[in-house]
Amino acid sequence: MNDSQPITSRSQRSDHDHTLRLVPAIAHGTVIDHLPTDVTLTVAQLIADHNDEVLIGVNFQSRHLGRKGVIKITGRELSSTDLSRLALVAPDATMAIIRDYTVVRKGPLPIPEHIVNIARCPNPNCVTNHEPCATAFRVEQDHPIVARCQYCERSFLGQELLIP
Ligand SMILES: [Zn+2]
Repeated sequence: MNDSQPITSRSQRSDHDHTLRLVPAIAHGTVIDHLPTDVTLTVAQLIADHNDEVLIGVNFQSRHLGRKGVIKITGRELSSTDLSRLALVAPDATMAIIRDYTVVRKGPLPIPEHIVNIARCPNPNCVTNHEPCATAFRVEQDHPIVARCQYCERSFLGQELLIP
């Protein structure tokens, strides 16, 4: 992505820019947009630290989704672990990095190839649920994400890995 449109730009009035104006501007941080409304609160719980300042919006109008959710996290750019968790639950979401009130990067979420030590295997018989070892999944499909456990070889939807 090579665009660094400031929030105040009037040249590109995309759905995303419209949303950025609906919630208070932040000086520095991350905006996650185009979240399905039904997973927005779950996503906020999955990625927000206890100290994070978080703004959550649900049921915003979206040209593409009808309704959508938006999350702003102030003062922090998401780690690769956060991004992987986010992609498992909402692979079609978009994110924007904001520095000094300006969008410096925005675009689709990166979809990881491997999910290592981020999620539990939902298979109760999997060895990773009985012995202390790191979990590992290989992503075989995106939108929605399907990932296969490297230990028991079973495959699961991305959401199943994080939402009990
Ligand atoms: Zn497994």
